[in-house]
Amino acid sequence: MERLAADGIDVVRVTYPDLMGTERARDVLLDRLPAAVEHGLAFCRAVYHTSPQGDTVEVPGGLDAGLPDICVRPDLDTLVALPWEPGVAACLGDVTDPATGAPAPESPRDLLRQVIDRCHTQLGLRPVVGPELEYFLCEPAPGSARGWRRYDETTGAVYTAGLRADGDNHLLRALRLLRDLDIGVSGGNHEYDGGQFEINLTHSDALSAADRAFRFKAAVKEVARKEGRLATFMAKPFNDAGGSGFHLHLSFETLGTDPDATPDATPEAAPHATPDSPGASAFDAPSAPYGLSRTARHALAGILAHTPALAALANPTLNSYKRFGPDTLAPWLIDWGLDNRSAMIRVPPERGAGTRLELRLGDATANPYLLIAGTLAAAMLGIRAGAEPPAPLEGYGYDSARSALLPASLPAALDALEADTGLTDVLGKPFVASYLAYKRDEVARFQRYVTDWEFTEYAYHL
Ligand code: GLU
Ligand code: MG
Repeated sequence: MERLAADGIDVVRVTYPDLMGTERARDVLLDRLPAAVEHGLAFCRAVYHTSPQGDTVEVPGGLDAGLPDICVRPDLDTLVALPWEPGVAACLGDVTDPATGAPAPESPRDLLRQVIDRCHTQLGLRPVVGPELEYFLCEPAPGSARGWRRYDETTGAVYTAGLRADGDNHLLRALRLLRDLDIGVSGGNHEYDGGQFEINLTHSDALSAADRAFRFKAAVKEVARKEGRLATFMAKPFNDAGGSGFHLHLSFETLGTDPDATPDATPEAAPHATPDSPGASAFDAPSAPYGLSRTARHALAGILAHTPALAALANPTLNSYKRFGPDTLAPWLIDWGLDNRSAMIRVPPERGAGTRLELRLGDATANPYLLIAGTLAAAMLGIRAGAEPPAPLEGYGYDSARSALLPASLPAALDALEADTGLTDVLGKPFVASYLAYKRDEVARFQRYVTDWEFTEYAYHL
């Protein structure tokens, strides 16, 4: 507290992810921080069951249990001053159910912890993850139906930086503020469509990657608000532009507990990893097919096999499925390729310690904890089953005669998740039941709602 006070901090913001992956928080005055650490902060458990419109969705343990508490304890190891909000430092909170003292059943961060722990103990592998997120920046458009328009309409500005398509230097400002947030931001550029940006985060252990992606999304939205703008990670916010992806770079390192876990991996001088320190790649195998170890090929095959269910987590909104399509750079089919951006899983060309998969399935709306937990679970199942992937895509993809289609809608993906007993066993049936109840309510509300499209399409002629 003395150090914080000396740094001019008088408020600590304690944040944690809800089911959607958006930030829930409380601002705690510095002199109340010790009490918050000792006793935790009380929130209503229905925070996990609250829709973006504020409805409390009927999820077991919420309304039916009389809207009980959850307890959020600041994790001071994650404390960092907010570069855009003088006097405020933020940290993540750990969420427990006060009735049991155990993690709250819906806590996405704890779900990911459990899946990572299984990778350690059951496979002897340490997952390494690099998140890659895109977003659109919007400006107020008073009088328009949406209230927001794209910040810039320049076309052809993919892979640019500077004033050409960012006249107000949003990217530079965001990069510098994010650097000071200490979440491993490495760089950024303008993305394909006007007003669309991509900012990259370094790779790390999977929990830190999820924490940093979660904090990144919240920070970008705050920085945009400071500019009087809206940053949206919505999957496909505009009809005349592509969507925003949440690509995930994934590899495993050997923990050293099971010397046979990757028999064809390169023997390297690097020591085995511990859960906290890097070790030898479990994916690199120069003499194996594609230079990929069995572990890598099995993980790849596992993700392909469980994709329809994984989509429920990677593509969690009704809008998510409008991002998929041929010729989009977003996927459309369940396929993989070697350094091929038209495939759902791209294996980038680096080998050695950089051997990894790039899962291009997820869109930017995905809850980082759930996307990563689901992907690890699918990879684990593939490794356990010893599954081999089909031949890689050659050339330009999007040929539905060659590979199966992704689920076409959120209801289809939710049904696939429910039916995938392998994946739901790893994620835990209570969590999956809560998630399905929450998301099916979203589907039901949409199905009752008359959209602008319907009026435009039908009202005049019919
Ligand atoms: N915006 C594309 C997507 O939705 C990805 C573009 C890229 O290759 O970075 O996934
Ligand atoms: Mg991109």
